[in-house]
Amino acid sequence: MKYTIANFNKVFKTDDDCLAYVFKYRFGNPACPKCENMAWYKVNNRKCWACGKCGYQIHPLAGTIFHKSDTPLKSWFFAIYKFANSRNGVSAKELERDLGVTYKTAWRMAKQIRKLFESGSFKLNGTVEVDDSYMEKTTRHISKTETPKALAMVQRGGAVKAVVIRKAGMLNALPMVQSEVEKGSNIMTDSAPLYIGNLPDYKHQAINHSKGHHARGEVHTQSVDSFFAQVKRSISGTYHQVSEKYLQSYLDEFSWRLSNSRSGIPLFLLMLNRICQLPDVGVEKI
Ligand SMILES: [Zn+2]
Repeated sequence: MKYTIANFNKVFKTDDDCLAYVFKYRFGNPACPKCENMAWYKVNNRKCWACGKCGYQIHPLAGTIFHKSDTPLKSWFFAIYKFANSRNGVSAKELERDLGVTYKTAWRMAKQIRKLFESGSFKLNGTVEVDDSYMEKTTRHISKTETPKALAMVQRGGAVKAVVIRKAGMLNALPMVQSEVEKGSNIMTDSAPLYIGNLPDYKHQAINHSKGHHARGEVHTQSVDSFFAQVKRSISGTYHQVSEKYLQSYLDEFSWRLSNSRSGIPLFLLMLNRICQLPDVGVEKI
């Protein structure tokens, strides 16, 4: 479900509208902790509300990624809106242009926003397609001996997890599957020797691409194949190449977007609400 730009412009006209959203989401209709009064007013030119009776103040941005930032809240919200609605990601260059901020600010905002996408500790289950793929064309600063690979696990009709692994550390792939996928789930892979016979805790089925097979009934890896195609196309199209250091955060971003796209709630609101729920993630001053 998409949150339209018309809707955004109607609901979030000013910084105060954005602040009011955070206040409402985090505190609802609070009773004053000091005097139990329920009436609050927005303090002029300050990012806080005060109790109409005793003056007790609530700072709704405390502990969020917006807290120490001098960038207008509406610019933050618009940046988040862009991330939520762009299938291919958002470059710092684009934010710089659209928000009228410096490149440095845009880059740091993008980095903060990407932290929202870090994967949770839940496990995948049901039928999970697993595959690994080299990321060398989309990644800078690669050491010759250790080309980064990504391992992706796509639950059909559900969430996606993707992690950076090293070629030399391919054996890391199996423990990773074990830590991210519930035992007993159905796993579909191609016929790479790594997987064959090495997933005893799962119902594992493989499809042999080299023999020209792409699907045998339910046995295929089309979801994970299209995940990798999308990630690589998006990175090349939007970022050209990403630094190896940040490859994981881009994988998280695409995984999160795909994982949440079927929730029925606009991704923009899911992202906003996640910010409101998260404790301070160690924000630099932006
Ligand atoms: Zn009060």
